[in-house]
Amino acid sequence: AAKSAGKNRVGKYSPALRARARERASALQELGLAIESRQFELYYQPQVRADTGRVEGFEALLRWNHPVRGVLAPRIFIDVAEETGLIVPLGLQVLHMACAEAMTWPDDTYVTVNVSPVQLMSSGFGSAVNDALEASGLSSKRLQLEITETGAVEELAVAELDRLRATGIAIALDDFGTGYSSFESLKKLPLDILKIDRSFITELSEGDSAVVTSVVEVAKALGMQSLAEGVETADQLRLLLTAGCELVQGYYISRPMPATEVAEYLSATAQSSGGYFHSF
Ligand code: C2E
Ligand code: MG
Ligand code: MG
Ligand code: MG
Repeated sequence: AAKSAGKNRVGKYSPALRARARERASALQELGLAIESRQFELYYQPQVRADTGRVEGFEALLRWNHPVRGVLAPRIFIDVAEETGLIVPLGLQVLHMACAEAMTWPDDTYVTVNVSPVQLMSSGFGSAVNDALEASGLSSKRLQLEITETGAVEELAVAELDRLRATGIAIALDDFGTGYSSFESLKKLPLDILKIDRSFITELSEGDSAVVTSVVEVAKALGMQSLAEGVETADQLRLLLTAGCELVQGYYISRPMPATEVAEYLSATAQSSGGYFHSF
C-alpha cells in the first residue's frame, strides 16, 4: 500500500504534475500568440556618466502589453519564455525593436539589450544579432549586449561573444555579485562593462563602501568600466562617484520610459546639463 501511495505521489500522472503540464501548455500557447501579434514593447532606462550626468545610452527593458492583465514586467514571463524556448523568437523581436528604435536617437547614444543565457546559447545567435543591425542600419558600435552568467553558458559562449565584440558590439555582465558571477568569470569572459547588482548599491553607506570600491578597482584593472544598477538616492550617487564608478542607472536618474518619451528626455537633460549631479 505504501508503495502504491508513493507511486501516486511521484508518478508522472500525479495531479500536481498534470496541472503543471497544463499550465505550461497554455503559457506556451499564450506567449506564442503574444509574440506573433506583437504584444511586446520596450521601455528604455538611461545610463549616465556618474561625474557629468551625460546620457550615454539606454537599456531596453521588455514589457508585455497583455490584452487582459495589462502591462506585465519580465519577472512574470521571462522564466516561462526560457523554459519553453520561446525566448529565442522573443529575443529576436527585442533585438529588432531595440536596434530600430535606437536608430531614431542621436548617433552618440547606444542601446543595451538583455540577452538570456538560453538565447546566447541558441544556434545562429550571432547572425541574428547581425541581421538586426543590418535591418535597422544601426552601427554595431551603438549596440551593447547584457549577459548574465550561469556556469554552463560560459565555455561555449566565449567564442560567440568574441566574434560579436570584434565587430564593435560592447558586452556587459549584468547583475554582477549575484548567481554564478565571480571574479573568476571576469577574467574568462570578454567584457567591456561590469554592472554592479542593485543589492550592493542598496547596501551602500558612508562607512561601508569597501566592497563596491574594490569591485570598481578590479574592473578597471581588467580594462572594464563599472556601472552601478538601481541607484535610488543622491547619497548613493555621491558614494559611487567617490568609489570611481563611471556609469550609473536607476530611479534616481530616471525610471524606464516608453520609446516615445526618449527624444523629449534627451532634449530636456541636454538643456539642464545634469542639474542634480551638482547638488552635492
Ligand atoms: P536587469 O537587466 O538587471 O534590469 C534592471 C531591472 O531593475 C529592471 O527591471 C529595471 O526596471 C529595474 N530598476 C532600474 N532601476 C531601478 C531602481 O533604481 N530601483 C529598483 N528597485 N529597480 C530598478 P525590469 O524592467 O522589471 O526587468 C527585470 C529583469 O528582466 C531584467 O533585469 C532582465 O534580467 C530581464 N529582462 C528585461 N528585459 C529583457 C529582455 O528583453 N530580454 C531578456 N532576456 N531579459 C529581460
Ligand atoms: Mg540588464
Ligand atoms: Mg541587472
Ligand atoms: Mg537582472
